[in-house]
Order: sequence, then structure tokens, then C-alpha cells
Amino acid sequence: MAEGYEGAGSPEKWGELQADFKVCQLGLEQTPIDLRDGIKGDAASAEYHYLPLQLRIINNGHTVQVNADPGSACVIGATRYELMQLHLHHPSEHLLAGKGFDLECHFVHRSNSGALAVSGVFIRPGAENVAMKAFFDSMPAKPGPELRAASTIDIAAMLPKTGGYFRYMGSLTTPPCSEGLTWTVYKEPMEASAAQIQKFAALFSNNARPVQQRNRRLLIESH
Ligand SMILES: [Zn+2]
Repeated sequence: MAEGYEGAGSPEKWGELQADFKVCQLGLEQTPIDLRDGIKGDAASAEYHYLPLQLRIINNGHTVQVNADPGSACVIGATRYELMQLHLHHPSEHLLAGKGFDLECHFVHRSNSGALAVSGVFIRPGAENVAMKAFFDSMPAKPGPELRAASTIDIAAMLPKTGGYFRYMGSLTTPPCSEGLTWTVYKEPMEASAAQIQKFAALFSNNARPVQQRNRRLLIESH
């Protein structure tokens, strides 16, 4: 049975599907969570050095993903994390004080030592998302190999400029649900047109893992 979002492979069963998926069920630092009541503090902010990305886009059956060429990175404290890929979830995986959003974009970064840092941005209906226009226009309707397009997406413009963020230690939101990831999730949602959101939602009616227990984790909320 392959993992998915409904039926026998649904998220609450992930931990039983394979021996190396156990942490999905037993882990105490799983993602996503409901972001609320953080401890106000100054977690090292993530500094982004993002270049426009040549569109290398793939529908992998779980999401639509853009694979990043080398050169874009985020820096947290003294650690540089190279951007590997970005992808979407519908609806959002994280909640903000109990509230979900139509989409959540994940920017997945990896350090030289293999540590992962993921940045999450909520997307709500509104103005057309011009920075990601080529992404929405080029989404492959069916799973298949990576496609290359001549167009670029302006990923730096995908990050909110204001509004603060939450920082906590969590996991991959898909099996094997490995822990030890540094999560940064922004409070201020970005916008995409209803048509753009619907285009992704038509391909993935639900590819969001439900929220997990926060347990005794430190959740830092920036000022
Ligand atoms: Zn994700």
C-alpha cells in the first residue's frame, strides 16, 4: 500500500505502512502543527538569497514541485541551506491559530551537512500571483517526468515582506516523516487568483497532512 491522503494509505496509517515510517506515528516532533501561543522571542531570522528560478517542474503524484538549480539559499544563524525544491499543499498543512488557508508553499533547503530547513508561506485568494504565474500556467496535469520550460519564477517575490513568523523544530510532512527540520512559517499570507488556486486544487483535492500534537516543543513567535 502506497502512502497517500485517503483510504488505506491515509496519514493516520502512515506509521504502519513500512518499518522506516514508524516515526510518522511515534515521533513527538511532527509537522504540521497549529501555530498559536508561541513564546515571543528573537529566533534567528532566515535571510534569503534567491535568484529567479528556471522552471523545472514535475507532478510527482503527491504535489507539483519545482526543482531548483544551484545558487539560491537561505541563511539561518551561521548555517547556509541551499534551496532544493518548492512545492504546494492544498489546503494548507499548518494552521494559524486554528485557521487554515487555501494553499501552503514549502521551500525546502539543505545544508552541507544534510540538515533541512523548510520555509512555509500561506496563500489565500486575491490578486493573481505574478511571481508564480509560469508555475501555475505550466503545472503538469498528470504525474510524469520533470519538464523544463524557458520561463522563470521570481521566488524572492513569494516571501512576505512583513508580519513575522513562527520557528520550531519539526519533521517532513510526508513519509518517512523524519524529524530534526528547522521550520519557519510566515504569518502573512501571499495571494493567488481564485483561478490559480482552483487549478492546483483540481489536481490535488487534498494533499495536506492533518495537524500533529505540539507536545513539549518550543514554538518561537517573532516580534
Ligand atoms: Zn510540503
